[in-house]
Amino acid sequence: MNEVISQLISLQKIDLHLDTIDNEIKQKQDALDQQSAMLTQRESDIDDLHEQINTLEKERRTLDLEMSEDLAHVKSRQSKMMQVQTGREQTALLKEIEDGKRSIKEKEEKIVAIMEEVESLTAQITRQQELLQEEAKSLTAETAKTKETIETIAKTKQGQSSKRQKHASEVEGKLLNKYNILRERRKGLAVVNVLGGVCQGCFMSIPPQQYNILLRGDRHLDCPVCQRIIYYQAPENQE
Ligand SMILES: [Zn+2]
Repeated sequence: MNEVISQLISLQKIDLHLDTIDNEIKQKQDALDQQSAMLTQRESDIDDLHEQINTLEKERRTLDLEMSEDLAHVKSRQSKMMQVQTGREQTALLKEIEDGKRSIKEKEEKIVAIMEEVESLTAQITRQQELLQEEAKSLTAETAKTKETIETIAKTKQGQSSKRQKHASEVEGKLLNKYNILRERRKGLAVVNVLGGVCQGCFMSIPPQQYNILLRGDRHLDCPVCQRIIYYQAPENQE
């Protein structure tokens, strides 16, 4: 195999390793972000529950106020009963008193329903806060663990990066440029083997004439389909 090809293969091997490292770091970070987002969501759920309780309590205060007005009205009608003379006036007052009492009863029922709802919402808040505490604790632990893991991975990355620099400096400038561009455009794979006349990057057949050139093992070409740098290496020697 020619020197240039083996340089490129070594370089790509390091680059693929670096990609794996970056992916690993990203995955760890993403998992943490997801956990953190869950926490934020729960906090916002708790805020919503508080907001619901506030609305209900406001409603209750209004009902309380209206109820005491009803009560005062009923009382004033009751005392007026002593003064009225005619049966007609009495009937009218009695109706007002009955209406007032019914209105009070309705409001009382509403207030009881509101109190029950507030109680249920408060229980939900307690449960959510317990969960939030557990999750916050777990997130803190996970953050520390992830930080440590990422630091370890980053050290490996540093080693690989300097190795990469050394290998890259051995590749001729123009070819290195081409390699870098290909890696960017071809999902990290710039240099590929051709097996049985098929490019292992795009899995398309290459013309037999070009394949014959590659089979000699001393040259590299560009895949006519995906433009990757192609070479030939017998399968048993493959790493
Ligand atoms: Zn190809």
